[in-house]
Amino acid sequence: MIVEGAILDIDGIRPAYVRFRHGRVVETGAIGADGGRGRERRVHGIVVPPPVNAHTHLGDAVSVREPPRGSVSTLVRPPDGYKFRLLADSTATEKRRAMRRALHRMVREGLAGAIDFREEGRAGVELLRAAAQDLPLRLFVFGRPVRRPLDPTELREVLDLADGIGLSSAQDETQETRRAVARACRAKGKRYALHASEARREDPQEFLDPVPDLLVHLARATATDLETVRDAGVPVAVCPRSNALFGRQPDLARMERIGLTVLLGTDNAMFHAPSIWRELEFAYVGSRLRHRPVSADFLARAALVEPWRWLGAPEAARVGPDAPFPPLVLRLPPEDPAYQVVTRTTEHLMVRGRPPGRRGGRAR
Ligand SMILES: [Zn+2]
Repeated sequence: MIVEGAILDIDGIRPAYVRFRHGRVVETGAIGADGGRGRERRVHGIVVPPPVNAHTHLGDAVSVREPPRGSVSTLVRPPDGYKFRLLADSTATEKRRAMRRALHRMVREGLAGAIDFREEGRAGVELLRAAAQDLPLRLFVFGRPVRRPLDPTELREVLDLADGIGLSSAQDETQETRRAVARACRAKGKRYALHASEARREDPQEFLDPVPDLLVHLARATATDLETVRDAGVPVAVCPRSNALFGRQPDLARMERIGLTVLLGTDNAMFHAPSIWRELEFAYVGSRLRHRPVSADFLARAALVEPWRWLGAPEAARVGPDAPFPPLVLRLPPEDPAYQVVTRTTEHLMVRGRPPGRRGGRAR
């Protein structure tokens, strides 16, 4: 099969053709130079690397009801907010099945990576690993020890299984806890992350001490705060739909203008389906509604390119024969590729191949 149209990947956006054989890319090049003489199936479209959902709480997928009225902190604050009561009231099997359903949905939508904040200590991480078994995606799990004050044994047990530790926020955890967690992560070559300035502004001196590997939200950050984060070299995962549910928005236009590294995520699975395509469209249109327009190109990179860099796998963000995951073929017009990808992509527009030996028809 030859896809003729455009490529959007880590090297930018360009008109191109991509030749597939058995669902894998064998060749890319300039339009008109493919040498095919009508024997191969030819489709028009845009080829992109598979996206990564850079912030989820998949455990929450046990409940999909409309959230009760209340502030975000009464809903999601540990240890006894609404979501933690729901998690405590659900069985391990219910949670594992709910997470697997959510992961399946993400894979069906073409996703090949997810960065999850998994609550409930070591058992929580174990459940998520079990839920993701055999699924063709790279799952990065931030676990979270439950006991306070920190129990070094529990922290070690969580870190043995998780890729890092993701804390609630600097206002929910003491500096002593944050420092001990970050130190333990560094010692094991793992990563430390936390939410920041979600419901109200927090001081960067707090949430940047110690310096995390990833921040989440910054919906209430000031212009100066954003510059401070940029200067500290910390990437930010933003979740515009989750913020909007509680009446706020990250200032994506400013983040883009000042050169902050931004990744896109869908946050709590109880509030929103973990669909990166819905998130992309909302982020784009929402920024217009707020009269703070962000570019489609910036958002496309936040879903398709930056998370792969953060995961240390930039090769997964390149459309070519060496990518570890097959790219997505989107049957979209090749004009303004980033705009098409951000505002028009649905799973129905993906061209599915049937390569041998892959579960679930992931490769295409
Ligand atoms: Zn979160």
